[in-house]
Amino acid sequence: MQRVLIFTALVSALFITGCKTTVQDNQAMTELRKKIKRFAPVEITVDISKLTGNDRKVLVKLCEASRLMDKLYMRQMWFCNETLLAQLEKDNTPEGKLRLAYYNINMGPWSDLDKSAPFVQGVPPLADTANYYPADMTKTEFNAWLATLPEVEKEKAIGYFYTIRRDAGGKLKTVPYSKEYKDLLEPAAKLLREAAELASDAGLKAYLARRAEAFLSNDYYASDIAWMDLDSLIDPTFGPYEVELDNIFNYKAAFESFVTLRNDAETKRLEMFSKHLQEIEDDLPIDPRYRNPKIGAMAPIRVVDVLHMGGQARSGVLTAAYNLPNDERVTREKGNKRVMLKNIQEAKFKNVLLPISRIAVDPAQVPHVSFESFFTHILAHELVHGLGPHDITVDGKKTTVRLVMKEISSAFEEAKADIGGLYVLQYMVDKGYLPKTLEDSMYITFLAGSFRTMRFGTNESHGRGMAMIFNYLMNEGSFSFDMSAGAFHVNPEKMKAGVKKLTGEIMTIQAEGSYEKAKVMLEKYAVQGPEMKRVLDKLADVPVDIAPTFPVAEQLK
Ligand code: ZN
Repeated sequence: MQRVLIFTALVSALFITGCKTTVQDNQAMTELRKKIKRFAPVEITVDISKLTGNDRKVLVKLCEASRLMDKLYMRQMWFCNETLLAQLEKDNTPEGKLRLAYYNINMGPWSDLDKSAPFVQGVPPLADTANYYPADMTKTEFNAWLATLPEVEKEKAIGYFYTIRRDAGGKLKTVPYSKEYKDLLEPAAKLLREAAELASDAGLKAYLARRAEAFLSNDYYASDIAWMDLDSLIDPTFGPYEVELDNIFNYKAAFESFVTLRNDAETKRLEMFSKHLQEIEDDLPIDPRYRNPKIGAMAPIRVVDVLHMGGQARSGVLTAAYNLPNDERVTREKGNKRVMLKNIQEAKFKNVLLPISRIAVDPAQVPHVSFESFFTHILAHELVHGLGPHDITVDGKKTTVRLVMKEISSAFEEAKADIGGLYVLQYMVDKGYLPKTLEDSMYITFLAGSFRTMRFGTNESHGRGMAMIFNYLMNEGSFSFDMSAGAFHVNPEKMKAGVKKLTGEIMTIQAEGSYEKAKVMLEKYAVQGPEMKRVLDKLADVPVDIAPTFPVAEQLK
């Protein structure tokens, strides 16, 4: 009943918006245009000429399932989201079309780049609980309830794949995703099963069939293992993974999907990195007892080109690389798999990073900004997620970094991967695994890239983590501001030490499991100083990210 009432209020609010005067409508349109302009429209294409007729049929099924992930994610965000979208789609006014376009970029009525401020009239602020928990639930209530639960139930309550609802008496309870999202997971499972039947690659068949089962059984373990073993030309990823939408605890996983083709040439070139993982871990700038003596020796790296992306992956700022699965049960046994979306990264570099570097970076250093450095650092970033402390002991109790760091775990982990990525690149240059020429360009490209990330705002974990890094490095003298150029400059001689110190500091705080220290560090450094603000203001007209369309997937329909 409550849902109906809220929605009725919402629809009337929308209707009222439509009845406003032309002048106000124009203002609204200017606002929307300004917001949309921050995303450069890009057609993401991929060569499918190598594929047989059956493989093409597999892709058709997968793209269809991928579109269902959009719906799932939107529902996880807000219970009114699907109805609101249907309403917005009916609005054929020029303003309505703009609003719908911006809604589609964000996959909801909250603007990812504006601290999730609503841009549709009548919509409430985005709840920290998203649609994973009852909207009126507080942290205190959840924690008090959690303390009463037996161990098995506790695991579900803080688990990735259970929503929290109220029973008839108003008491909190867990609901498995398989039940909560049955109406969407059943058709998705059917499509994955059909794709499995058509597929020729044995590993692909196994993954798709098991993932279909997981959607229905809520047990993702076997299909996560199958995904780790997957090495096929058609390389899909489907599932609930990232926890950022759960802004109250970072416990619950959002649905997303990637339908991709393996880029064989690049994958080979990058396999070299994974050979040195243990060596790098053994040399991390932390107390040796915090290093992992046995790290994902078989951790694979894939470079792929995207055909279609769905769900969280394409909501707001687009995912360019990922390190999955997140489930520690699987990563303990199998490590992580790193997937880099090369055609997405190229589009971002061309449309965002190059224009930023011309404004934010000392003109003398701009020529050193390169796609190779950008691409290699993203690889290193993904690799570092798998390094350093994960399973830790706090006060004699075994736990994980993710659990003790709660709502700041994402921001802190992203900062670790960004700065640790630089540390790893320097290590590889020093060892002669990477060419010395990279040294000139990697820090300058990182500086340019930091502005790309910081523009996401400090309410987003990558942006927050990067602001922390940036100010820390300014403090160390690794970066400085050139008043006359109005741009930032890399001081190569102070870079190495700054990067090493910060990498060590973040990883040590994670190893100690000190939520307090992490919070203090974020509060101290993840801020916007006057010089940073001056440069960010000058970037106003440069696109912040890209808005992809997937013409190849559309043609396959
Ligand atoms: Zn990351």
